[in-house]
Amino acid sequence: MKYLNEVDIKGKKVLCRFDFNVPLDEHLTIADDRRIRAALPTINYVLDEDAKLIITAHLGRPGGKVVESQRLTPVARRLSRLLDREIVVERDCIGDDIQYLVDNMTPGSIVFLENLRFHKGETENDSSFAKALGRYADVYVDDAFGNAHRSHASNVGITKYVKECCGGFLMKRELNYFKSALKKPYRPLVAIVGGSKVSDKLAALVNLVNVADKVIVGGGMAFTFLKSLGVEVGTSLVDENLITMAQKVIRKVSKSGVKFYLPIDCVIAQKKSKTAVTKIVPVQEIIPNWMGLDIGPASIRLFSEVIGSARTIVWNGPMGVFEIDAFSRGTYAMIHRVADSHALTIIGGGDTDVAVHRAGETDNISYISTGGGAFLDLVEGKKLPAIEALKKCSKR
Ligand code: AMP
Repeated sequence: MKYLNEVDIKGKKVLCRFDFNVPLDEHLTIADDRRIRAALPTINYVLDEDAKLIITAHLGRPGGKVVESQRLTPVARRLSRLLDREIVVERDCIGDDIQYLVDNMTPGSIVFLENLRFHKGETENDSSFAKALGRYADVYVDDAFGNAHRSHASNVGITKYVKECCGGFLMKRELNYFKSALKKPYRPLVAIVGGSKVSDKLAALVNLVNVADKVIVGGGMAFTFLKSLGVEVGTSLVDENLITMAQKVIRKVSKSGVKFYLPIDCVIAQKKSKTAVTKIVPVQEIIPNWMGLDIGPASIRLFSEVIGSARTIVWNGPMGVFEIDAFSRGTYAMIHRVADSHALTIIGGGDTDVAVHRAGETDNISYISTGGGAFLDLVEGKKLPAIEALKKCSKR
């Protein structure tokens, strides 16, 4: 697969797909602009080469129709500030007007197209929509790692209609960090998995058991495993359908020699609320009708020992309901330990990166992925459709 620096783009029309799916608050103000900042190396390179930059992106899930609150205007405004030049979003992403605009671009100019997902053709990977986008460009650059696990018109379909396709610099960074963490890691490699989407993460966990030396499971995930070992976990989050699978993972782990760690104590409450009364108990003493919402101090100490020995750490999913103060200690304590460690540390997007940001440790983590789902699919060993499309294009 080619990257941007290997393609001649001087003076050419370059269509770049970015992941600008940023969180907006109720005033449509961007709450976290890291995905926009992460695109700057690619944007600056294209402009420095005097190419004509056509920006495409999506925001939210408008479902194939125009949703005013999901226009890309706030993103363009932030990008204007970051680049110190005026950038406006066009009213649409396809149509004769846009074609005219693109045909008349001057070197170093930018055309920023409106939310791709205002058209059904985007998520349906419709070939005529992909063709309409592809017609604008001499070169296609995919820098939207966060969307790479999706097979959409702007990241897969389009590659059939542009002569030259390549990955952008963010895509390169993401894939290189992934490789150094999971393909050729400095050992011991410690994997930490938490959060609540047990079904999404179990397959990734199965693969991690094959490559990691030590695996820590915390957060909501842990209770399905504890229950599979016969521990009474009260009303804690458990996916009953996955108990057998959890048992299989534990059996596999014990055969393979991988060290596997579950919480030994937890913070429990009767409800997931900031006013709830809490207790810290060993996992064997979870009270019926109470639920585990964070790892306890003994688990933090145990997990910290494991983290201390690591040379590579890969982490996805918080250790508890960190959005509520009473259940946030475990996640924050672990983040500080990971940040202080001497290991290569990689955080796999999603909620964990929000927690890292809140803990003020963003600068002390080696790499924070911009893609939650895409990162997990890579860990799971799946091929990402967008990457496969770029590879195919490079072979043409
Ligand atoms: P995920 O998207 O799978 O990374 O899950 C993140 C969510 O998991 C966060 O919003 C946490 O509040 C939630 N979470 C973490 N630990 C628990 C737990 N013990 N019980 C319920 N939810 C949890």
